[in-house]
Amino acid sequence: MPNALVWFRNDLRLADNPALQAALDDGYVPICIYIHAPDEEGGWAPGAASDAWRHRSLAALDADLRQRGSRLRLFFGPTLPTLQTLLMACDAEGVFWNRRYEPAIEKRDTAIKKTLRAQGLRAESFNGSLLFEPWTLQTRERGPYQVFAPFWRAALAAWRPQAVHDAPKRIEETEEGPDGVALDVLKLFPSQRWDENFWRQWSPGEAGAREALEAFVDGALHGYREQRDRPDRIGTSRLSPHLHFGEIAPWRVIAVLEDVRSAGMAADIDTCIRQLGWREFAHHLLHHFPDTVDRNLNPRFDKFDWARRNPRQTEAWRSGATGVPIVDAGMRELWQTGWMHNRARMVVASYLCKHLRQHWLEGARWFWDTLVDADLADNTLGWQWVAGTGADASPYFRVFNPVVQAEKFDPDGAYIAKWVPELAALPVPAKFAPWLHPHLAATYAPHYPSKPIVDLAKGRDAALAAYRALTLRS
Ligand code: FAD
Repeated sequence: MPNALVWFRNDLRLADNPALQAALDDGYVPICIYIHAPDEEGGWAPGAASDAWRHRSLAALDADLRQRGSRLRLFFGPTLPTLQTLLMACDAEGVFWNRRYEPAIEKRDTAIKKTLRAQGLRAESFNGSLLFEPWTLQTRERGPYQVFAPFWRAALAAWRPQAVHDAPKRIEETEEGPDGVALDVLKLFPSQRWDENFWRQWSPGEAGAREALEAFVDGALHGYREQRDRPDRIGTSRLSPHLHFGEIAPWRVIAVLEDVRSAGMAADIDTCIRQLGWREFAHHLLHHFPDTVDRNLNPRFDKFDWARRNPRQTEAWRSGATGVPIVDAGMRELWQTGWMHNRARMVVASYLCKHLRQHWLEGARWFWDTLVDADLADNTLGWQWVAGTGADASPYFRVFNPVVQAEKFDPDGAYIAKWVPELAALPVPAKFAPWLHPHLAATYAPHYPSKPIVDLAKGRDAALAAYRALTLRS
C-alpha cells in the first residue's frame, strides 16, 4: 500500500477525523505526524496554558494510535520544508489535513497546498472542526454576517445532521521515514509545574473529551438554560478546550445532545447548540475580518481614549487583587484552573476595559497565555464584544456593575468564597462589596483589600465620558 502523511494539528482525535478517514479510504498507510511551528502563528503563538494542554493531548493521541498499531511522529518546523523532507523520506504520495482558520495559518496552508500540488503531490484538506466553514453562509447581499441572530437563523436553516464515525479499529504503520523527536523535546510542558492543579479538573485527549461530554449530558445539561450563567455551579459543559484542540467534533456533540432530546430537554439542548453557534460565528468573523485579532472591528474605536497603560492596575487585575470580589474570583479561577466561567469572563473583561479603561488587547493577551481553551476566534470575539469594539457587540455604554453581577449570578457568594478564601467568612451581601461594610470586613476579611483599586462609580463615569467624547468626535 502507498504511504501518505496525515498531518495532525487542532484535530487531536481519531473518531470523526475526515483527513485520517480520507487517507484510509484512499488506501494509504497513514504516517501520522505533528509539526511544532509556533512562529508561524502570526504573532499568536500558543500561550503557556495551551502548550501544557497540547503536551498531554499529543501524548493521548500517540497512545490511542499505538493501541491501533500506529504512532504519532513529532517534528519541528518550518512546516513546508519539513513536509517536503518527510514526503521524500517516507516515499509518501501526499499530505492529508483538517483545516484551521486562523488568518496566518490559512495563508500558510494555502501556500503549502499550492506548492505541493505544483510538485505533483497530493495535498488534501478537510473540515474537521466546524459545523459551517466560514465561507459557506452569506447574507442576502453575499457578504459576511456581522450580527449573530441572522447568522444563526441562516445556520439553522442550512443545518443537516452530520453522521458520526467511530475511530478506525486498526491503523497500519510503516517503518519508512524518520521517527521524529520525543514529546518532551518540544518543551510544551511548564518546567515550573504551575499547571499541576489543572489536571484535577481536566483530562486532555479524545477519551477525556468523551467523558466530559457524558458528564455534561448526565448532569449540567439538565437545566443548562437556567444554570449556564451561574459561575457558582457546574452549569455548563466545560468542553471548550476539548473543542479547541479538536479532541471532539462539534457535530458529535450535537448528535449526542440530539440523542437525549425529549420535550422536557428541548430548551436546554437548543440553548447549548446556540452557544456552539457563537463558536461558529466567531470563526466566520475571524475569516472575513482577519485584522480583528489586533484591531478594532469597528474602526470608530480607533480614536477611543483608552487610559495610559497602567502596569500596577493591570497586575492587580491579572493576579486577582483588584479589591472587587467577583473580578478577583474570576481571575483566580483562571490562574488556578486555566479556565474561567463565561459570566466571569464577561465581568472581568468589562472591568478591565471600562472601569480601568485598559485596551482590550491587554486582556486578550493575558487570556491567550493563561486559558487552556485559548482560541483566536472565540477570544477575539469575546474581548471585542465586551469592549464594545466588535461585531454585534454590547454597546460601550452598557457597563457591567460587578457588584450587581455578583448579586445576580453568585447570590450565595459561593463562587467568591471558593476562589477568594479571604472573603469566605464575610456574610452576604458584604461579600459582594466589602468596602461598603468596613466593620464587617475588618473583622471577617482582614486580609482582603479594604477598597477597590479604582472607585467603581468614578471608573464608570470616566469610561462613559471617554465614550461621549468619541461620539462627539465621530
Ligand atoms: P458551554 O456553555 O458548555 O458551551 C458549549 C461550547 O460552545 C463551548 O465549549 C464553546 O466552544 C462554545 N461557546 C460557548 N459560549 C461561547 C461564546 N460566548 N463564544 C464562543 N463560543 C462559545 N471561548 C473559548 O473557547 N476560547 C477563548 O479563548 C474564549 N475567550 C473568551 C474571552 C472573553 C472575554 C469572553 C467573554 C468569552 C470567551 N470565550 C472563549 C467564550 C466562552 O467564555 C467559553 O467558550 C465558555 O466559557 C466555555 O465554557 P463551556 O465549554 O462550559 O461552554
